[in-house]
Amino acid sequence: MSSDRTNEKTRSYGNRWTALGLFGAVAVTVFLVALDFRAMWLDPPIYPGPGVTGQARLSDYFSGIDGTAADTDVYFLEGEEAGGTALVLGGTHPNEPASSLSAITLIESAVVARGRLIVIPRAVHSGFTATDPQEGYPQVYHIETPTGVREFRYGGRGTNPIHQWPDPVIYVNGSGQQLAGPEVRNLNRSYPGDPNGYLTERLAFAIVEMIRQEGIDLSIDLHEASPEYPVINAMVAHENAVDLAVEAALLLELEGIQIGVEPSPANLRGLSHREWGDATGTKAILIESANPAQGRLRGPTTEALIVEGVDRYYIRAAELGLLYVPFGKEGSPLDERVGRHLQTVSMLLEVFSSADPDRTIAVEHLPTLGEIRQNGLGAFLAPPEK
Ligand SMILES: [Zn+2]
Repeated sequence: MSSDRTNEKTRSYGNRWTALGLFGAVAVTVFLVALDFRAMWLDPPIYPGPGVTGQARLSDYFSGIDGTAADTDVYFLEGEEAGGTALVLGGTHPNEPASSLSAITLIESAVVARGRLIVIPRAVHSGFTATDPQEGYPQVYHIETPTGVREFRYGGRGTNPIHQWPDPVIYVNGSGQQLAGPEVRNLNRSYPGDPNGYLTERLAFAIVEMIRQEGIDLSIDLHEASPEYPVINAMVAHENAVDLAVEAALLLELEGIQIGVEPSPANLRGLSHREWGDATGTKAILIESANPAQGRLRGPTTEALIVEGVDRYYIRAAELGLLYVPFGKEGSPLDERVGRHLQTVSMLLEVFSSADPDRTIAVEHLPTLGEIRQNGLGAFLAPPEK
């Protein structure tokens, strides 16, 4: 009897130690995972180049996002001579790396001789703090510069749910368009925004307010899409900017860059190329490049896929005629996509300026696609901090 009781006691102590051990293991795991999550909240540095003449926060235009994860940095590159103003918006979808990286390259290398360039590199700042579930994305990718390696964040498609939750079953945006629930966190479905709406709608409102308050003539929204998406290597233009986009596309073609032009559909509401133009009169254009890491046909989702853009399933899909862009052995490298974006931006500014010389926006030291091919994108980025 008594030995039974002793056994029971020993067993219960044993259970207690197992429970404590498990508790400790869980606590340590949670602590380590929390550190990893918290690391995503720190912004990798951007180094303003010689052309940057000022900086602001987006909340300066609408205090409704002040102190939230949606607030973000705005960079000004102003020439000595007066002229027009253009906006380049990067990072609307933080899982489209050429978008944010093109904007960062502008900030770090471009110099404006005439007019003004306003650049937002992380439009959906919150979206850079998490990747999308079930996609297997690395949290960061790296670009080599001549003096060291720079690290950049690969994010999710929309506002991090930790900052805006829960999603409705169906999202009806401010223009009455019905969308799937998670689109409530998609900036590019939320324009022209709502000062009293969801966080993402307030962010959209702040961007439209900035376009209005700064009197921006030409607004460019940089994106990427999967190679099997029909609107790819293309500009989508508001009707007020179709002529501008078509002329730029023709001139780009002469420089060996093929890019299509799609008119912004009048019934597709909530998107930048529609609502920016309608709400403010700015000439609104969205640009897409081909990102295989975003596509459904992709193989392993690795950092190499993000940066080098080579994927054998996409090569095969191209052979079968399933893609809307050429996709050979060389793939669709990030350098190349940034080069395309920058040369398209540069051409749009040129065509805009020649049509309206009083509103000229003249930008120098913007690398061309050819220069990026030759030297690598890293040559046009600031060196990493020592
Ligand atoms: Zn996009």
